[in-house]
Amino acid sequence: MSHPCCPELLALLDALDGQPPDAVERAVSAHVASCERCAGEERHLDDLLAAVRSSAAPMLPTGLEARLLARLCPPIT
Ligand SMILES: [Zn+2]
Repeated sequence: MSHPCCPELLALLDALDGQPPDAVERAVSAHVASCERCAGEERHLDDLLAAVRSSAAPMLPTGLEARLLARLCPPIT
């Protein structure tokens, strides 16, 4: 089974790159609340938001977005 990412979420994360974690969490939560595709990925998104919250940096460090996406959309093997 393929695991297509939500293009809107990808665009959202791209736009939020470098923003404060709380802003990212709010934006992602708002998106999930209004997106059927992401609602089905809620378990992954919980992990993603936990990772955002656990970031001690005031701004998301470079590369975090890629790690979050890897967690949300694991490579198809
Ligand atoms: Zn979505």
